[in-house]
Amino acid sequence: MKSSVASIETFSTVDGPGIRTTVFFNECHLRCIYCHNPEMWNKGKVNITDNELVEKILNNKEYFGEDGGVTFSGGEPLLQNEFLISVCKKLKKHNIHIALDTAGIGIGNYENILKYIDLIIFDVKHTNKEGYKLITKANIDKVDEFINVANKLNKKFWIRQVIVPGITDSIDYIKELKEYIKIFKNVLKVEFLPFHKMGEEKYFKLGIVTPLKDVAEMDKEKCEKLYNIFLNL
Ligand code: SF4
Repeated sequence: MKSSVASIETFSTVDGPGIRTTVFFNECHLRCIYCHNPEMWNKGKVNITDNELVEKILNNKEYFGEDGGVTFSGGEPLLQNEFLISVCKKLKKHNIHIALDTAGIGIGNYENILKYIDLIIFDVKHTNKEGYKLITKANIDKVDEFINVANKLNKKFWIRQVIVPGITDSIDYIKELKEYIKIFKNVLKVEFLPFHKMGEEKYFKLGIVTPLKDVAEMDKEKCEKLYNIFLNL
């Protein structure tokens, strides 16, 4: 079985607990206005087998320690469902901790994928229909199926929210978010990520107009203040 992987990063400390190997899958059907990986939107060439990927991940096993492991990211890993299941199955034989960084919109088979997943790092995007559409071009209802299955399996979530000036940086929005995340049964952590423009060069190279070219990067201090407000609500 083969899939299309854009890159594999080792020794990551930002993609879940501990030291991790992060696998970035190609292909995503959303078009988030702040996406910093537009080069991963298309499927690209299949370039790795399930056995090859498992071997690469296991090569780093000694660095994972007690908390680390592998994180599947992208792109949208849920679009590679059969491949993902095959890789997870093999990794679980070696007791590897598996995190899934996702927006929750794939092509189904969620129960079979999630039974191998120890932690879901979930990108909320936005809490309401209009905002979700504005950010992703997709319908918010599409995430329901994934969240329902994850809740049914009592999966642990880290919730991520990108804070974008003029879109998700108001106190009203932060209040809405506090309410919204009640739909997740088992939230271990919430993170706010300030919008940045590090991916702008990639858009230029791909000949795509940067959707937020006129929006400034999110002020980190303001983002921290909003986070503290969120915690104290
Ligand atoms: S879900 Fe992730 S990879 Fe897909 S467009 Fe949004 S930010 Fe980019």
